[in-house]
Amino acid sequence: MRTRITATRPFLSVSFAAVTSRPALAARPRNLAPLLSGRQIHARATEYLPTNLPGWTESQLEVRQAIAKICSKFPDEYWLEKDTQEKFPWEFQKELAENGWLGICLPEKYGGSSLGISEAAVMMQTISESGACNNGASTVHMNIFGLEPVVKFGTEEQKKRYLPPLIQGKERACFGVTEPNTGLDTLRLQSSARLSSDGKYYTLKGSKVFISTAQVAEKILILARTTPLAECKKPTEGLSVWYTDLDRSAVQVNKIPKMGRNAVDTNALFFEDWKVPVEDMIGGEGDGFKIIMHGLNAERILVAAEALGIGYAALRRACNYSADRVVFGNPIGKYQAIQHPLAECWMSLEAARLMVYLAGRLYDEGYTDGDYANAGKYLAAEAAFNTAQRAVMSLGGMGFTKEYHVERYMREATLSRIAPVSAEMIKNYIGQRVLGLPKSY
Ligand SMILES: Cc1cc2nc3c(=O)[nH]c(=O)nc-3n(C[C@H](O)[C@H](O)[C@H](O)COP(=O)(O)OP(=O)(O)OC[C@H]3O[C@@H](n4cnc5c(N)ncnc54)[C@H](O)[C@@H]3O)c2cc1C
Repeated sequence: MRTRITATRPFLSVSFAAVTSRPALAARPRNLAPLLSGRQIHARATEYLPTNLPGWTESQLEVRQAIAKICSKFPDEYWLEKDTQEKFPWEFQKELAENGWLGICLPEKYGGSSLGISEAAVMMQTISESGACNNGASTVHMNIFGLEPVVKFGTEEQKKRYLPPLIQGKERACFGVTEPNTGLDTLRLQSSARLSSDGKYYTLKGSKVFISTAQVAEKILILARTTPLAECKKPTEGLSVWYTDLDRSAVQVNKIPKMGRNAVDTNALFFEDWKVPVEDMIGGEGDGFKIIMHGLNAERILVAAEALGIGYAALRRACNYSADRVVFGNPIGKYQAIQHPLAECWMSLEAARLMVYLAGRLYDEGYTDGDYANAGKYLAAEAAFNTAQRAVMSLGGMGFTKEYHVERYMREATLSRIAPVSAEMIKNYIGQRVLGLPKSY
């Protein structure tokens, strides 16, 4: 007699009745989607935004379906045009705002939905996977989780002032941390802030680099030193954070030409005499680093989900093309030099997906360490980049053209490896915090 558990589809080979009759299933969390509800256990890589992905809860699947419906109005051609013309995707941002998605993680009290990072990650993966890649994700990334410092450390007055316009899509925010001279070494940043003698405002002086959406943002969350590093007991002290108007009369905003994600701008900022009201400071003076660090793991998870989306989009293009394109009398997907690397890509994307959504679940349950969030971000970015690169190679000459979109995906996947934290710094983190090895820098 043939065994019912086959090598290729182990879950499907077990009958539904046999699975559901097991008493242990009754103990599963209530919001988990039925394990086998007539769906296949996994989607085909060739499908556009499939919803039958194992391990997702009902609320995650609802987010997936709703976002997929919106994204289907914005095809690859839309994103190619925005990328080529370097135009911000206002129509897409408006559609998400009007449908109430910009406050997915923000409190209901201010107009948000109070959902978790697990749901927000699905939203960001789906946007990216539609072909929008980081162009789509970065359009709303800051709305989704960027204002977590305000939610956690802001006063009631600040939350009422800042959150509703962001959730309604009436205001956009950018995030000002990275500096030209210090890069990843955030604690040594050189921008300074001095309190005025009447205690009414701070004067900010310095520069920032790589600040995304500063061309279109009305607001900025910015980190600067209120106490010189030399006067601090620890380098983590003496930094402060403000959420304030990006006052263009005091801040010079210069767009940086770049390799990809061109629908969303990235900028160098210069300011010398920028007066920022004291009521725009978030938390206490000197608490800035702690405040900025809060929510960093959640951001890693979202960026990882965005990277996954690029990977699945690239795999979809590569598989569909390889099944159709006939060379030497066969579809090229029949040749193992094409087929096997794509199979490897699917496996690495799925492995990364499990890690990313585990990290999301742990975060929502209150876990604060960065091991799974960082590892998920690393694995997803690497898998996405490798898949995008394989997609280009699988399409041959067409892979190098704009028309088939995979070259755009590859450029976008490169960014996922660099920002907001590089692959090298993640390995440093894992080496020190998980492996217990000495710090190398
Ligand atoms: C398109 C884009 C958008 C961005 N948007 C924003 C934004 O909106 N706001 C913002 O604040 N920042 C933003 N960034 C900045 C981004 O977070 C940084 O580029 C990233 O953190 C890397 O910093 P860096 O470029 O200064 O690299 P550097 O710090 O100069 O590092 C250069 C290289 O050296 C490696 N390296 C450095 N130190 C070590 C070490 N100790 N061990 C091993 N390797 C090391 C790095 O991994 C990297 O490969 C953006 C960047 C890009 C490219």
